[in-house]
This record gives sequence, C-alpha cells and structure tokens, in this order.
Amino acid sequence: MMIFLLEEKIMRAVIVDKPGTVHVGTAPDPTPKADEVLIRVGACGICGTDLHIAEGSFPPSPYPIIPGHEFAGEIVALGSNVPKGIGRKGTVLREGMRVAVDPSLFCGHCDFCRVGHGNLCANWGAIGDTVSGAFAEYVAVPAANVYLIPDHVSYREAALVEPISCAVHGLHKLSPRLGDTMLIVGAGTMGLLLMQLALRGGASRIAMMDLNTKRLALAEKLGASRIATSVDELLSYEPDGFDCVVDATGIARAIESGFTAVKRGGKFMVFGVANSEARVSLSPFRIYNDEITVVGSMAVLDSFQPAIDLVASGAINMEVMLTQALPLERYPEALEMVRRGEGVKTQVLPNGNL
Ligand SMILES: [Zn+2]
Ligand SMILES: [Zn+2]
Repeated sequence: MMIFLLEEKIMRAVIVDKPGTVHVGTAPDPTPKADEVLIRVGACGICGTDLHIAEGSFPPSPYPIIPGHEFAGEIVALGSNVPKGIGRKGTVLREGMRVAVDPSLFCGHCDFCRVGHGNLCANWGAIGDTVSGAFAEYVAVPAANVYLIPDHVSYREAALVEPISCAVHGLHKLSPRLGDTMLIVGAGTMGLLLMQLALRGGASRIAMMDLNTKRLALAEKLGASRIATSVDELLSYEPDGFDCVVDATGIARAIESGFTAVKRGGKFMVFGVANSEARVSLSPFRIYNDEITVVGSMAVLDSFQPAIDLVASGAINMEVMLTQALPLERYPEALEMVRRGEGVKTQVLPNGNL
C-alpha cells in the first residue's frame, strides 16, 4: 500500500482550502529538501490553533494549507545533505528512527533569534501553521527539528510532547518556588499539563478552576488540592490568595478574576491565547503596592528535549490526557469534538496504529 502511494506521489491529507472550508483529500507526496527528512506520521494532535486555522482567525497561516503541528512519526527518507550529529549524543539520523518534531521554524538571524529568543522570531513560522503540517500521511521537516523518542514512548504519547513543551516553557518563565501555592484557571489540555508538571516541580498545592465539571474531576484525579467553578469559591479556602496564578483560558473575564487571586508578592502568568483584540481591566495599584509580577509565555523555547524526558519518565498521566484518536478521514468530526470541548486531547492517526 505504501509503495503504491510513493510511486503515485500522492498522499491523503487534510486541506484547509480557505477559511471555513476543510476537506480530506490528496496532496503531492512531499519530497525532503537537502536538509530535511520525510516523516511517516504516527499521530498528530489537534489544538485550539487548528480551530483558528480552519476558521481563518490565525493571521500567519496562508491558504490552502495542510495543518497539524503536534506530531510524531517515523523517518522514512532523508534529504541529500542532512546534518550529522543531531541532538543528544550527536545522533546520525537513519530511516526507521522514531521521532517527535519541534514545529518551530525560527529564522536564526533576526534580532530576537540572535539573543536566543527564537520563539519571538521576527520571521516566525511553524510546521502546520505557516507551511504544510502533519494531518497527512507524510510530512517533510528540517532534520534539525527532530528529536528521538525512546522505544517505550508511543507515537500518541510523543505527539503530546509539543504541548508539554509549551507548558515546560511556561513554567520556566513563571519559575515558581518550591512550596508555592498555585491556582490554574482553565482545566483543558494545557491547564492539566501545567498542573501535573507544577506538582512535580514542587508546588505544594494547586487549585483548579473551570466551568466544565468533567474536566475538574480529571484535575482532582491528577492531584488538584481543590477544584471549583469560580475563583471566589477557591479564595474562600485561600483568603490571602495564591503565590502563583496561571491563566490557561485566554478569556478576558477569567484573566480578570484570576488576577484578583494573586497573593501579595506573587506572580501572574498569561499562558492562554487571548483574542488579539481582547482587553482586560487590572489594578495597577495592586501590581505596584503588592509587588505582583506579570509574566507572558509564548510557545516553545529550549523546552522540547526536557518535555521528551518528562514524558519518558512518566511525569504525565497519558491515560487521562489522550482521550480520542480518529483516522485522518474523520478530521472534520475530530475538529468538532475539540470545538465542543469533548474529552481532553483529540488526535488523528493518518497511518492507522503505527
Ligand atoms: Zn498546538
Ligand atoms: Zn528570527
């Protein structure tokens, strides 16, 4: 079957033709450029950005585009000039290697890249966001973006590395102190990942707020010390507030109520992706008088290998996180499940169970 596809140079892929029009069809089989490798996709996760790309509300995306940026798979071909000595132990890449892929495409030469701030790259791009991604049988990616995964980590687990890597970067930015109390507003995929990592990173207790009680139940199962559908309720147990408050919703009202729960001298992190037009009302007097630190966190930076190591060591409860896996043909349906907030992480398996 695969040989047939390679000969025909045609593969199955999700194509967003234009905002609002998504179909599963065929696309030319990608050929890796000199410094690229071809990946047979094992699993690719759907996230909020994919909803925005389908709707046309993610400005960097061109159309038509094959989306998909949270993925892992097998190397099946190498370009003519793939650099040797990639990543840990100076790996020489070969066909058959199992990898997770960092979707970030940083230019390497802008002002931000030159000071090690590639996630703020002036020429920012990402596989599946600005160039063809992994909701397809195959995807060609720069060899420098691949990371080997251990044998005991499945492709579905490895496809969760990208969002975990975002959470790791967030916690690097927030840098909570050992023993800190924490409130996370939003118990979706990112909130639940941040919670598991922060508990492992030394938070003494973490309260979780969400309107979805099913997700709160998962948070409790994963170790949340308190769950509630309002911040006020949580404050009744923690009247001085929390050392660290993280917004993982991107919703203006949730950000405002989360901010009221920051303890004097505490930190507030805006992690969720708000609409670019959104505005919030915060008290500058409190930021001044209570010495509150406000932190932002955007995507991935120096956090991909740590995320793989955390997955490999069992830091994340995969059973709770990986709730749905659908074949490529059912992508439109999978997208609807994400839109309705069903389960936790929905993934697509373009080549069946690899
Ligand atoms: Zn994502
Ligand atoms: Zn750059």
